[in-house]
Amino acid sequence: MAETKPRDYTKEPDFVKKIVESLHPERMYLKVKEIIEETPSTKTFRMVPTKGKLPSFRAGQYVNLFVTIGGVLTSRPYSISSSPNQTEYIDLTVRRKEGGFVSNYLLDEVKVGDEFETTGPVGQFYYEPLTDGKNLVFLAGGSGITPFMSIIREVVDKKLDLNIWLLYGSRIPDDVIFGKELEEIARKNPNIDYVLVISEPPEHWGGVCGFLNQDLIREHLEKVEDKTFYVCGPQAMYIFCEGELERLKIPRRKTKREAYGPPDDVTREPGWPKGLSAYAVFTVEVVGKKTFDALAGEPLMNSLEREGLVIPAVCRSGICTTCRTKLLSGKVFMPSSVTLLEADRKFGYIHPCMAYPISDIKIRI
Ligand SMILES: Cc1cc2nc3c(=O)[nH]c(=O)nc-3n(C[C@H](O)[C@H](O)[C@H](O)COP(=O)(O)OP(=O)(O)OC[C@H]3O[C@@H](n4cnc5c(N)ncnc54)[C@H](O)[C@@H]3O)c2cc1C
Repeated sequence: MAETKPRDYTKEPDFVKKIVESLHPERMYLKVKEIIEETPSTKTFRMVPTKGKLPSFRAGQYVNLFVTIGGVLTSRPYSISSSPNQTEYIDLTVRRKEGGFVSNYLLDEVKVGDEFETTGPVGQFYYEPLTDGKNLVFLAGGSGITPFMSIIREVVDKKLDLNIWLLYGSRIPDDVIFGKELEEIARKNPNIDYVLVISEPPEHWGGVCGFLNQDLIREHLEKVEDKTFYVCGPQAMYIFCEGELERLKIPRRKTKREAYGPPDDVTREPGWPKGLSAYAVFTVEVVGKKTFDALAGEPLMNSLEREGLVIPAVCRSGICTTCRTKLLSGKVFMPSSVTLLEADRKFGYIHPCMAYPISDIKIRI
């Protein structure tokens, strides 16, 4: 038999580069094809590519969306809510955050035809058949339903052999995103169980009320031991559910988590300096660039962007490490959910997306 020579990819750098770029693009260029009103406070932006084709992605991943608002270039991550089963478009489903900079802009200003730049799909919050087994419990809070929607849509589209229990916490019934579709999916697919849990029920509400606590979780699952738990939602809900899962003695390796951005009020985080107001002002010196004032209660990255100092960002929740920055002097507060490498701690690197100045500081970017 003739021997086949291994292919020498070093002789074809362009071929390899093109393949890698098409599968894992650093940037995507997208246009809003359609806007779907999901609830009074939530819209889905259906995005199609303006250049090339969309890459494939894992259901549960997100993109970081860049926007310029009032001359400030910033970005926010949004999970893809559509199924990866089709690659004609991706859906980003955005809930209004009271006083929020980007969500309000997206909901109030963006029209069909507007164009955006995003990162390629990123994140590790997806189903991994090798480790996650076949029984999955999804704990979703508010807009944290979006990555689960993508996963559930894929499971339904591909008829995947998985059992899913979705416990979806919402403050009021009017805020429930994808409610009708989820009811329909649960009705038609015996392997998908959907429980809506309302924390501030109106008078006529006849469904489940309360929070996603251990009693509720136990009540809706036959047993917890054989399941992998996924948690996604705002910081407060995520921290609450983490505690409940610990009480249920779910080992950490059986849980996956995605927190939706910075905490609403960082002064309530464990470890925040006693008595320090969110409105305290400190001086930030960016060596060789400029010096400006920043609020203690605002992520340093936001303050930098307002000064026109944009640093690379992807997750904006202290996880991905893309924004690592050297802290030369002074102190910042970083919530415990920030994943800081031991080396970063030792050599004074911080993640400005989730770092809050608690003294005058000097940084190098
Ligand atoms: C991986 C990931 C996926 C996500 N997916 C979705 C999704 O699918 N749908 C969705 O709706 N959201 C999603 N989010 C959240 C989203 O990225 C944004 O955080 C959200 O839209 C709010 O952004 P905003 O600019 O409106 O609010 P911001 O202006 O960023 O405000 C958010 C919070 O930041 C703090 N803050 C900001 N400015 C100040 C200030 N001046 N003083 C004090 N505190 C301040 C406050 O705590 C405030 O509540 C996701 C987040 C992550 C990390």
